[in-house]
Amino acid sequence: MMLNYNRQKNWTNNFGNQQSPIMINTHDLKPKKGNLAFKPKSHYVLIREVDELTTIKLTGRGKANIFGRPFDFKQVHFHSQSEHVIDGKPAAMEVHLVHENKIGQLAVVALMVNEGPANPEFQQIIDRFESGMIDWVDFDITNWVSSESKGFHYLGSLTTPPLQEGVEWIVINNTMLTVDGDQLNWFRSKFHKDYRALQPRNGRVIEWYK
Ligand SMILES: [Zn+2]
Repeated sequence: MMLNYNRQKNWTNNFGNQQSPIMINTHDLKPKKGNLAFKPKSHYVLIREVDELTTIKLTGRGKANIFGRPFDFKQVHFHSQSEHVIDGKPAAMEVHLVHENKIGQLAVVALMVNEGPANPEFQQIIDRFESGMIDWVDFDITNWVSSESKGFHYLGSLTTPPLQEGVEWIVINNTMLTVDGDQLNWFRSKFHKDYRALQPRNGRVIEWYK
């Protein structure tokens, strides 16, 4: 069944008070030295492009180290506007790279995407979607992520049902990825508003790698 973002208050939440997305106010945080420890260890190979009706999802595989632990890349999908809000300003788009480790723990690497030059890989995703080509071969994630990622690390939840908690969030605010106005308009006219409302922080620790 298609997710209805206009009726998200009715989404069943059988979990607790560690939900995502959240508002991040940097003036509440003490910056840490160093970088967000997200290191892709291989190309991310995309397998299939799926129309999820509220977003595009691309399944794939790849390897990464996240805060020193090995994770497998599973899928990437897109939200517009961004779900997380930093210092009161939503970004144009938020890209979610969903990772899972051997014991089923989830880590989502979120890229806060601003409007800027058109991105060629994102254009390929659009063009393939339009032409109905769903099979993929290779995708170089390193184009989208700096070798020194900056941003935030906290514990939250999936932002779509089942809204499962215990999800580790790595919110990157210095991604190399930008989209231009045409790409943004294409996505928004196709999928409309696909972002969840902000959830209470409830005293959670947010690490800020400035
Ligand atoms: Zn998402």
